[in-house]
Amino acid sequence: MKEVKRPRKQLITYVLLVVLAMLLINLFLTPAIMNRKVRKVDYSTFLEMVEEKNVDGVEIDASGDTIYFTDRATPANYYQTASMNDPDLVNRLLASGCTFTRVVEKQSLLTNFLFSWVLPLAFFWGVGALLSRVLMKRMGGAGAGSGNPMLSFGKSNAKVYVPSTTSIKFKDVAGEEEAKQLLEELVHYLHDPKQYADIGATCPKGALLVGPPGTGKTLLAKAVAGEANVPFFSIAGSEFVEMFVGMGASKVRDLFEQAEKNAPCIVFIDEIDTIGKKRDSAGAISGNDEREQTLNQLLTEMDGFDGGKGVIILAATNRPDILDPALLRPGRFDRRIPVELPDLEGRIAILKVHAKKIKCASNIDFRAIATTAAGASGAELANIVNEAALRAVREGRKFVTQEDLQESIEVVIAGYQKKSRVLSEREKRIVAYHEIGHAMVAAYQTNSAPVQKITIIPRTNGALGYTLQVDEGEKFLMSKDEILNKIATLTGGRCAEELAFNSITTGASNDIEQATRLARAMITKYGMDDSFGMVQMETTSNIYLGGDSSLSCAPETAKRIDDLVVDVVRKQHDKAGMILMQHREKLDELAQYLFVHETITGDEFMRILNQ
Ligand code: ADP
Ligand code: MG
Ligand code: ZN
Repeated sequence: MKEVKRPRKQLITYVLLVVLAMLLINLFLTPAIMNRKVRKVDYSTFLEMVEEKNVDGVEIDASGDTIYFTDRATPANYYQTASMNDPDLVNRLLASGCTFTRVVEKQSLLTNFLFSWVLPLAFFWGVGALLSRVLMKRMGGAGAGSGNPMLSFGKSNAKVYVPSTTSIKFKDVAGEEEAKQLLEELVHYLHDPKQYADIGATCPKGALLVGPPGTGKTLLAKAVAGEANVPFFSIAGSEFVEMFVGMGASKVRDLFEQAEKNAPCIVFIDEIDTIGKKRDSAGAISGNDEREQTLNQLLTEMDGFDGGKGVIILAATNRPDILDPALLRPGRFDRRIPVELPDLEGRIAILKVHAKKIKCASNIDFRAIATTAAGASGAELANIVNEAALRAVREGRKFVTQEDLQESIEVVIAGYQKKSRVLSEREKRIVAYHEIGHAMVAAYQTNSAPVQKITIIPRTNGALGYTLQVDEGEKFLMSKDEILNKIATLTGGRCAEELAFNSITTGASNDIEQATRLARAMITKYGMDDSFGMVQMETTSNIYLGGDSSLSCAPETAKRIDDLVVDVVRKQHDKAGMILMQHREKLDELAQYLFVHETITGDEFMRILNQ
């Protein structure tokens, strides 16, 4: 997409036109006589010719300074002479019997006016305007009003884009088929608003893109503009928040004015939650007067908007729960378009879109990468591809390999590999047993996911080692057995430490946290405990912020839940201990192998396990 540069071009054409007009006026409005070939003679010659009755058609010009005349014998000859203070001239001319007159040039008034007033003014105005544009450009402004900060108060600094061949299209947004389908209707409407008007349908005025950060909401909005081929006004919610009260509201007004002029077009308000937060009625003197005014103005503008004009308002947020309900009322953002984290196929597609922009080896297995990067957002996947390219450059290669991608997943998701942070021998051995414990418990339980990679190289995020477990395919449903197995796997690390060293360390804190959460959710959310059955005892709000859960049950029930959680985790802990005890030699062998190699793949692990 290119930013519009129209005003400047317009100006140049305008100046050219003025110059052309000047030339034309000059040509047509000068007295006809001036364009003829004129012979200059002195006054005495003129008088002589008058005496000899050789003169005809005498014209004295308006100022009385110049006399034009023709030869009576050959009228094609024009003469000019300067007039003298000659009171007898009229009598002499009468005597010679020629026609004579004084020319009163009516058009000269007009020409005079044009030349001495209008043109200079227009010229200076033109030069002035041109200069100010150039200056504003220098100062970094993009358009009218934005160059001088003092002049731009109250103007929306929405960037205007016109579609060009490089614009973003739906095909640049991988996955997100549902969202794309919903947006397609809006595109169709922008293509042909009349078709909708004819049947009497009003198209939705606005649509709200809702989803976690980095899922491509901004990208989708741009794609709608690209597909519909209409101007795209984009502004972030935070840009409305101004230094002075009332400025934000005035910006909103300005934005909608611009939009209406440019219809059909799209107005995109990114991160609308910054201005669209719930207005609180409590407290008469609130510190958020400015934001509330801005929000009120936005609501007013959306209501006063004629839906048939072909202006569509898109907005994006990752906090739909904190939006003012007034914004979500029908007639405003009445459409909600969920933009979710990509599933496996979606992740593969996103990786492929971004891999097209870099040089890759021909044998890249995108499915493997996408499988490992479970839970990554579109932005994170884009980042993974870029990190891989950076790594390839660091290693002095000309293209990106599978290993680069695999490695950059860990960079993006698990933090940079940090070889400099050294563990003591004993610490390293403990971590090796801990990780192998996880992996073995996972592997010996039939339903558990296979292990992909085990490492004891510390990460910057604080983990001393980790066992990367991958679910085969996407799991939308987890059975009770699978959850129990997962809890057992999580306790496996601590179990291995107990077996091998007969002591326990702090290394299991994250495992404990996860295991507890799973066990609690089994009981309070998934109805997997027989004594409670299908009763929900926990309500979750704020699904995009990790879920603030609150218990909704009697205190005695809460106590019973706690007891049950302890019970579940302990049973799985015991199960994991049994598994590891039965395969004690394998545990020692694998831990030693990991201790030496630091990182082993899932395949290596399985090979040793099955020997
Ligand atoms: P959001 O606005 O939802 O936070 P963005 O639209 O800003 O996310 O996405 C950030 C970047 O992530 C995009 O510029 C793009 O490179 C990448 N991205 C996200 N989702 C997708 C997708 N579905 N297809 C391709 N690229 C994506
Ligand atoms: Mg965004
Ligand atoms: Zn662990």
